[in-house]
Amino acid sequence: MSRSEDLYTRAQKHIPGGVNSPVRAFNGVGGTPLFFQKGEGAYVYDEDGKRYIDYVGSWGPMIVGHSHPDVINAVRKQLDFGLSFGAPTEVETTMAEKVCELVPSMDMVRMVNSGTEATMSAIRLSRGYTGRDKIVKFEGCYHGHSDSLLVKAGSGALTLGVPNSPGVPADLAQHTITLQYNDIEEVKSCFAELGDQIACIIVEPVAGNMNCILPVPGFLETLRQVCDESGAVLIFDEVMTGFRVALGGAQEKFKVTPDLTTLGKVIGAGMPVGAFGGKKAIMEYISPLGPVYQAGTLSGNPVAMVAGLAVLNKISEEGFHRELERKTSLLVSGIQAAADELGVSVATVSVGGMFGLFFSNQKQVSTFADVQKCDTEMFKLFFHYMLEEGVYLAPSAFEAGFTSQAHSDEDIEFTIAAAKRAFVKLAK
Ligand code: PLP
Repeated sequence: MSRSEDLYTRAQKHIPGGVNSPVRAFNGVGGTPLFFQKGEGAYVYDEDGKRYIDYVGSWGPMIVGHSHPDVINAVRKQLDFGLSFGAPTEVETTMAEKVCELVPSMDMVRMVNSGTEATMSAIRLSRGYTGRDKIVKFEGCYHGHSDSLLVKAGSGALTLGVPNSPGVPADLAQHTITLQYNDIEEVKSCFAELGDQIACIIVEPVAGNMNCILPVPGFLETLRQVCDESGAVLIFDEVMTGFRVALGGAQEKFKVTPDLTTLGKVIGAGMPVGAFGGKKAIMEYISPLGPVYQAGTLSGNPVAMVAGLAVLNKISEEGFHRELERKTSLLVSGIQAAADELGVSVATVSVGGMFGLFFSNQKQVSTFADVQKCDTEMFKLFFHYMLEEGVYLAPSAFEAGFTSQAHSDEDIEFTIAAAKRAFVKLAK
């Protein structure tokens, strides 16, 4: 029995499902989740000492690689001063200044402890600011697990929202309208009918929770337009894309400016951090300036702030994202070429330091319906073949992959060669 198997058996006694977040349980791919002991640069090491090239990066934060010395040293230095005060610290202001500099649509920012908190608070703020209850989201987009956002629509755009988890009150879910990602006409007709009741649109500007789907030309622009016309707040959930698809996030890459932005992952460098911010007129609605309540015992925690700032400084260096993007497209084009050569139906996509790999006959996958048609059985096999090869991919066919500065060209060549060997087995 491997140490991971042993630890998993032990974990299941007192932790539901043996994990503290469901996708870690390997339900999407089968088998036993790996327990990790150490991360260094592009690699993670499991409890049996096996090394893997890591394309999960703690689900996004590790954009400079694991245990980067700048991050570790910043944390070590802060430890001598204390862990938390529940009072303002200078580093919070430095962090706010840095975030607002990198994401110019943000005049003000409030730190929180997770992406879920960021999106939940941005929704409350939008509702408080507009005095409206309805919100619009898109099927296949994930914005954390707060009640209003754990909802999918029934068939048809304007049917009332139905919760997709027990425990979410139907009374609340009915205020969430779920539309199809990349369906411009559906957005327009929804706003033509209900625009004056809608508080906000929340969207992943690149959808990274149904694999990796790019916005079609005109989609984000349409969201901006209907929000301008109706007075709804446009929220870009950049928890995943922020600082990753470009230094200024997806809004910089696709040149569409939201009213509010939510951040997480990279901003905390692996510490529990999220943030939301945007236009001053909206942000001034939050307590203590305004009537919309929002708070947190550990928000802006100094250890987390110094870690996050170290990463934001690192990624601000000239050429960081150019190099990250080069490596990501090297990876993706190599995998695509290997699949094509062996006649395995695969579609790939990459943007900045984020990529998608679909077992699909379609060359371009752009909707949730397209994603659902992908061959998840092929993905499961591929995942385990790659794991044997020492490559750690997200244990689900519906997650984006992440690269880091620490991934060398040799790591990428190794990964492509491993994928080729896996495709040979799949082609049989
Ligand atoms: N928003 C997006 C786009 C995400 O990808 C996630 C998490 O994966 C969240 C929000 C929730 O963030 P957290 O898991 O930190 O609560």
